[in-house]
Amino acid sequence: MTRLVRIPLRVANSYLVIGEKTIIVDTGDPGYAKGILRALSKEKIDRRDVSLIFITHGHIDHFGSVFELKRSIDAPIVIQRHDEPYLNRGVQGPLYAKNRLAAFMKRIGGNFSVPKRYGFTADLTFDHQMDLQPYGVEGELIATPGHTLGSASLVLADGRAIVGDLLVRRYFLAGPPAIPPFLQDGRAFYESIRRLDELGVHSYYPGHGGQIKREEFSLKSNSNLRL
Ligand SMILES: [Zn+2]
Repeated sequence: MTRLVRIPLRVANSYLVIGEKTIIVDTGDPGYAKGILRALSKEKIDRRDVSLIFITHGHIDHFGSVFELKRSIDAPIVIQRHDEPYLNRGVQGPLYAKNRLAAFMKRIGGNFSVPKRYGFTADLTFDHQMDLQPYGVEGELIATPGHTLGSASLVLADGRAIVGDLLVRRYFLAGPPAIPPFLQDGRAFYESIRRLDELGVHSYYPGHGGQIKREEFSLKSNSNLRL
């Protein structure tokens, strides 16, 4: 069975998806490559067995350490096509603030950039779907726009999915599931959740905090997931 290891990196999570080979999902803010390398050693995974580095979307708390990591791990970086330009330039992708608190956070974080890119850029992009079998994992990458247009999720064949910031918890690390405070496209958000339902996703592994079960939220009009 595919093993999923969450690496909490201060603010954001990175994940190891361990099948025949290992895929790293997201890399946290700049300065966290060492934390990911430590997690690999702890899990007794050789760096050469990492087959792919998947970035869920173009926000710096998710891709900030990817270039640092790439200096130690020779695996391709993949991101959905719409968010690729932000990663390649090392700049913050768009932040569409939904409320005043988010607008305040945007003032602080909107202009963040990654100081050192070492000449790296994304190696691969995809539009709708990418099969992960060639990378040693039973699953696929699925475009799940909403939070940003280029957001994507890693969906395992057994119904677990790493979803980046598609879904958050209301108080960031705790509280009930909620729509992310930054949302580029509300309609796409609901379509993405429905798409994951169709694929039988029952457990969401978000970019911040712990696992969210599908039964914890509903898309009905009276739920806290409505805009
Ligand atoms: Zn984000």
